Amino acid sequence: MAKKPKIYIIDVTNRDGVQTSRICLTKLEKTMINIYLNDLGVFQSEFGFPVTRHETNYLNANLELAELGVIKPMRLSGWLRAIPKDVEGAFKAVPKLKHVNLSISTSDQMIIHKFQGKLDHKSIIDEMAEAVKLAKSLGAETIGVNAEDASRTKIEYLIEFSKAAKEAGACRLRYCDTLGCESPHNIYERISKLISSVKMDVEIHCHNDLGMVVANSVMGAKAANDAGFNAYINTCVNGMGERAGNADLVSIILAIKYAAGLRDNYQIAEEVNLKKAWELCKYASYAFGVPIPINQPGIGANAFAHESGIHADGALKDRRNYELYDFEELGRGEPEIIETGRQITAGEYSGIKGFRNVYDNLEIEFKDDKEAAKVLELVRYANVHNQKPLTKGELRFVAKYPDIARKIFTMEP
Ligand SMILES: [Zn+2]
Repeated sequence: MAKKPKIYIIDVTNRDGVQTSRICLTKLEKTMINIYLNDLGVFQSEFGFPVTRHETNYLNANLELAELGVIKPMRLSGWLRAIPKDVEGAFKAVPKLKHVNLSISTSDQMIIHKFQGKLDHKSIIDEMAEAVKLAKSLGAETIGVNAEDASRTKIEYLIEFSKAAKEAGACRLRYCDTLGCESPHNIYERISKLISSVKMDVEIHCHNDLGMVVANSVMGAKAANDAGFNAYINTCVNGMGERAGNADLVSIILAIKYAAGLRDNYQIAEEVNLKKAWELCKYASYAFGVPIPINQPGIGANAFAHESGIHADGALKDRRNYELYDFEELGRGEPEIIETGRQITAGEYSGIKGFRNVYDNLEIEFKDDKEAAKVLELVRYANVHNQKPLTKGELRFVAKYPDIARKIFTMEP
């Protein structure tokens, strides 16, 4: 019997998340997000743009972290336009790149009004197929092909495009609901139709412009699984992403685990450890500078708060009266210690004494003064780079992997 198809998570915070207006992450913050995503058991992180020059050192350094086993087993994948020139440039800048997604628009709207005659329906398929073959020849192990604006693409053309992608060597098609116009039943039907004729795994990439992003993503995944193929849902931490955002990572995992009609029959492939969710989401909120809404599923301040008489009484008698899942499962419930007295912080103008105090408090010791001075210098750079106080996780990272940290901070315009 064939293996039961599963649902994988591909997080795109470090790509769709950071290309969003007003959302920025430094290269150190992107690195930390990758480490936390790996701890959480995410299958793949789309970790950036290999053709964008200021990403080069960060991308190569993170692939080194993967080799060292720091980011393992999570895959790191790059986002590229599906054009041979970009594929060529990507593998030149980031030679150890193994996983890529190649993106090109497929809707009439974009073919006519974006490419404006530069490419037509036929040349889009040709260009994409050439890019896929080139990526394969340059060492790509897995290639996803992104149909940008797939949800507004004529299904017959989308099928033709997807078949060509598969034939060229792609292992997945990314169905992009670029404008967030999908609805749950509609995406289910379209993915069913697409997968039953192309017979290929599919990525579901949705946006929240109509407030249905999580429902659309899980229904798309369900359609792929029902047709016998794996689904790869694209997520962002705290639901960041272009405009109204992408599918929130934690909400997607909770939906697959707990939603009626999904929980018993559909399964996340990797070993997801939601216990890391709290730490990841809090860190991302700090790094983005965007607070977590109090009503955010699982993570918001109100997610396990009860006040009204009947609810409070019920929750105290038996949590299942008013709580669908446990706060412990999300890594919540531990007290957090906040220093309210004297604090020494490490910043871009720190000296050695204060710096050693900061690391003593983290119980990190240095071999000798020389090593301490070297890490201090890097911590200064990390602060110049981040422009806000470093978190304990970041301080630990810089001390543990100073040479990799140096690469991450280095940009050569
Ligand atoms: Zn997107």
